[in-house]
Amino acid sequence: KWYFDDDADLKWLQGKTIGIFGYGNQGRSQALNMRDAGLEVVVGSRSDESAKKSEEDGFETLPLAEAAAKADVLFILVPDEVMPQIYKESLEPGLKPGDTLVFASGYNIHFKYIQPALELNVIMIAPRMVGQGVRDTVLAGTGFPSLVAVHQDADGKAQNIMLALSRAIGSTKMGVIESSFEEETIVDLFHEQFGSLHAIRRAIEVLTEAGCSPEAAMLEMYASGEVREIGQYYVDHGLFGQLKLHSRTSEYGQLVYARGKPEQEEAHKDHLRGIVERIRDGSFAREWTDVQANGMTALKTAQEEIANDPMTIEERKLYERLGRFSA
Ligand code: NDP
Repeated sequence: KWYFDDDADLKWLQGKTIGIFGYGNQGRSQALNMRDAGLEVVVGSRSDESAKKSEEDGFETLPLAEAAAKADVLFILVPDEVMPQIYKESLEPGLKPGDTLVFASGYNIHFKYIQPALELNVIMIAPRMVGQGVRDTVLAGTGFPSLVAVHQDADGKAQNIMLALSRAIGSTKMGVIESSFEEETIVDLFHEQFGSLHAIRRAIEVLTEAGCSPEAAMLEMYASGEVREIGQYYVDHGLFGQLKLHSRTSEYGQLVYARGKPEQEEAHKDHLRGIVERIRDGSFAREWTDVQANGMTALKTAQEEIANDPMTIEERKLYERLGRFSA
């Protein structure tokens, strides 16, 4: 089910103070949009660069715990991996019955890393838009879509509050779609994990094995910037609809030849089904929690490996040549 501006009434937010916790990608844009919508916004932040920025932007900026005690609606917009600790230590002590917690991703609630008291409303407004876009699309008058859900309805008003907030951050103009914390978690993690970057890396390895220069391979596959244009065509004309903007040869290659045999397609789908399964049964979340508990060693090792990968080394040379990185 979709909801639009007409389904959302800001009266449900009358007299409520909105707290933004984490003045980063999402926090800043959502705070600015809600202030423009006429809401009273206070920012909770550890004393850091982000706090300085929010003060410069003219927001009352308080330590996390003070802002939590003051706010009636709390947008928890810190990175997912630090959220449970911040919630426990700085936000939970200041919460009062009837307060509304707003999450921009389903992860911590779905996997029960945060278990809010039952007398709190718990909702999700998950923008399908990067933080800067949340601000820019609203200023441009289009807005952006979001997945929304109610996890806990303590006072019978959670749905109305969720829609009003969706409107205030600028999302009901394009429309918000009823989802669940689980669905958002699956699609969000799946998008990150289905392997687009490694598919490009493998393609470049194969092209260079075949005697093509790394420069030619990288420019073709992504480095020229053409993919940015094509990405916009997906948005404007549809994933396959945009093929009409390519040559006939390209259209045949992409639509017919690239599809492969049915058994190849089924094998790839089986691989993708495995990714969904490991998200759904919590294996990925458990692995990621263990990685964090072990000082992020596995992530740091992978970062070092990729930094020393022949493709990355060639990419650095190409980008220096193109003036993107300084030598
Ligand atoms: P950011 O990485 O931009 O971080 C937000 C803020 O958290 C920063 O102000 C940062 O302060 C602060 N912060 C980081 N660590 C701590 C800490 N230990 N204690 C206190 N504050 C801390 O987050 P995003 O805006 O990217 O993500 C916020 C939420 O939005 C997440 O749930 C994410 O999944 C969701 N989301 C993000 C999208 C995106 O495009 N980024 C899209 C849709 C949803 P400092 O600057 O000092 O580090």
